[in-house]
Amino acid sequence: MRSVLKSFRRVPVRLGKIGAHCMLENDHSFTCPYCGVGLSVRLDVTGGRKQAMVYDCETCCRPIALSFEFAGDEVVNFTAEPEDK
Ligand SMILES: [Zn+2]
Repeated sequence: MRSVLKSFRRVPVRLGKIGAHCMLENDHSFTCPYCGVGLSVRLDVTGGRKQAMVYDCETCCRPIALSFEFAGDEVVNFTAEPEDK
C-alpha cells in the first residue's frame, strides 16, 4: 500500500519587504488620559491596518480607548482617550 499523504504543497512566502528585521509587534508608549501615568502597549501588526482596542490602565484601572493605524510596520494616528467620555 502506498501512502498518498505525500507532502503538502508549499505556499511560497513573500519575504521581500520584511527582510532582515522581522518586526511583527510594536511596543507603543502613551500616557493615561485619566491619571497621566506612562504606559506601554504591544500592538500587533497582523491584526489589521486599522485597529481599536480598550486598555485598562495599570495604575487607575480605568478603561482607555486606543485606536491606531499601521503604515507598513509603523504606528500612525495613535490616540488614547477616556472610554467613557
Ligand atoms: Zn490611569
